[in-house]
Amino acid sequence: MTAVLEPTSTAATPLDDARAQLAQAADVLGLPDGLHRMLATARREVTVSIPLRRDDGAQDLFVGHRVQHNFSRGPAKGGLRYSPDVDLDEVRALAMWMTWKCALLDVPYGGAKGGVRIDPRAYSAAELERVTRRFTSEILPLIGPERDIPAPDIGTDEQTMAWMMDTYSVASGHTVLGVVTGKPIALGGSLGRASSTSRGVVDVALAALPERGLRPDRSSAAVQGFGKVGRGAARFLAEAGLSVVAVSDQYGAVVASAGLDIRALEEHVDATGSVVGFAGGDELPPADLLELEVDVLVPAAVEGVLTAANAPRVRARIVVEGANGPTTPEADRLLAADDVLVVPDILANAGGVVVSYFEWVQANQAYWWTAAQVEARLKDRMIGAWESVRDYATRTRLSLRTAATAMAVERVASAHAQRGLYP
Ligand code: GLU
Repeated sequence: MTAVLEPTSTAATPLDDARAQLAQAADVLGLPDGLHRMLATARREVTVSIPLRRDDGAQDLFVGHRVQHNFSRGPAKGGLRYSPDVDLDEVRALAMWMTWKCALLDVPYGGAKGGVRIDPRAYSAAELERVTRRFTSEILPLIGPERDIPAPDIGTDEQTMAWMMDTYSVASGHTVLGVVTGKPIALGGSLGRASSTSRGVVDVALAALPERGLRPDRSSAAVQGFGKVGRGAARFLAEAGLSVVAVSDQYGAVVASAGLDIRALEEHVDATGSVVGFAGGDELPPADLLELEVDVLVPAAVEGVLTAANAPRVRARIVVEGANGPTTPEADRLLAADDVLVVPDILANAGGVVVSYFEWVQANQAYWWTAAQVEARLKDRMIGAWESVRDYATRTRLSLRTAATAMAVERVASAHAQRGLYP
């Protein structure tokens, strides 16, 4: 493997993981060093400070980033994350993964990501509105329907997108629906966007089951995370006939060996804000969820949860990555050695950006599709991408991740080559 860039620090960061995955794909493709270095590095990075007037009159300050990794195939695209753990290397990794995800699903975008280092739960809605509008103002010259199109991610939602769209539109002097995706339906959002990442995760999970001789009605699943991705994934897995035996959120985990009643669990979460205390299951130490004996494990929370430390204890047959970057490269190797099939994030969780693309297309044309159209077109793309990645991996004897990354990198590299290096 080519050591194109030095590690970013002594402890491995998500950026190191993303670069290690790129390096594997670059090896497979025989990518020239110069091009490899270009793709390992973001095209543009902006760091801004965001002063906030608190509701009580005090002033606070946050740091925000927008990283645009690549534009070879179109405008940059990617979510905006609000979390106390946000740092520049994380945003760089997430931006790179967006480039591969968009290329793999043949969505005509490059990749980007944003992040603000803030715990959104500790601030009022009015404060979050001011943070969002100030951050949007600071990155205003970078974004736009033809430049870079943000979307929700961890800690942000359709309300955040409405504020971003409004701030951008006020500055432009007219309403610009296509500047963000994941908007409320009343403001040009797409039907089916909110559930799209979860639907895509389950589309590919169901497609992957036969690879291990499994059937939905005889399979079990565990889902880490009960937010925008995990909650819908648990629901759709259960609807498809799988027994969802455990789920977790940031507060704790619940387990029921006979299967959880996901509808009842959702009602409990709506009422209490957490899966903890659900009467239809027993408490479980959250880290144990990853090591349960299940057929399908869906990590749908954050990066770096499957590591060299716990991968040898993973007993799932298939891991479907609902989160971005949940598996470190060392864990990937250990899981492969144990014949655990890992369906990589850039494929498994791409449903969100696919329907973001549908939303942008609808907004730009001011012509809206039905929920059934959105769902069917999403499924077509997810299954089409799954089949091409699986076939490529089988043909080349690569892991699904290396196959998917190589396919994506090849598309980006070829767009770059055809455009040419300017000047
Ligand atoms: N944040 C989501 C992701 O990581 C969606 C990005 C988008 O729709 O632009 O894929």
